[in-house]
Amino acid sequence: MNDLGSNPAAAHPEQPQFLTPWMLPGLRCGFGGRLGGVSAGPFASFNLAGWIGDDPSAVAENWRRWQMMYPTMAAVRSNQVHGARVRKITRADAASVEDADGMVTAVAGLALCVYTADCVPILMVDPERRLVGALHAGWRGTLRNIAAAGVAAMVRLGARRETLRVALGPAIGRCCFEVDHELVDDFARAFPASARHSRAGKPGKAYLDLRAINCAQLSAEGIARQNLMQVGPCTRCANAQFFSRRAVPGGTSGLQMSFIGFVDED
Ligand SMILES: [Zn+2]
Repeated sequence: MNDLGSNPAAAHPEQPQFLTPWMLPGLRCGFGGRLGGVSAGPFASFNLAGWIGDDPSAVAENWRRWQMMYPTMAAVRSNQVHGARVRKITRADAASVEDADGMVTAVAGLALCVYTADCVPILMVDPERRLVGALHAGWRGTLRNIAAAGVAAMVRLGARRETLRVALGPAIGRCCFEVDHELVDDFARAFPASARHSRAGKPGKAYLDLRAINCAQLSAEGIARQNLMQVGPCTRCANAQFFSRRAVPGGTSGLQMSFIGFVDED
């Protein structure tokens, strides 16, 4: 499932590494980790988020490394606010940063980027129509069903549910995601199927499987089981390779970046 073998950078540990869910003609995509950059302290080392207190020169060097790997791609981002808004990105607004937790586009040459530390990064592609999407699904976004909003935005753009492929990247797992039991109850009310994706914890607490709940939401939207995949480990368990806010005292952490887009072949 983890397609590191296809990534030429994997042979050079000093290079950033991306878990690649699909190898499709013209498609560039991957779930990022924390290795291969120059940032220090809680941002070590491949932090691409320039708005969380990291040294701007280190972030710039990390971006230079990403751009070396994907020289023809222009990175697009949104200001993630734990909502369920999904922006349609046109060539004209690719440089703007608006509040949203999802993006979809039909424009080649753009890399839609989402940033996570324990939340679920979700990448989507319709290979035939060359449409892509990227979502950020923390527990708030999952409770608001951003997965369904993402599928709807892809369909509005022309994607077919039957051929839409969706991958969920490294995120905090049911092993580690301890929440108040009230939150489990909120999920059970909103999505009865989510009850299967929690387990009991200490009194008043429980553990949630965010990726499994997002998968259930995607299945409910008509995404075929064979077109759904989970890639990579629990971020907290694998904190050496992935940023995890829950793994560090105080919660200060860099963010890994995951992206998707088609190259512009014209
Ligand atoms: Zn874990």
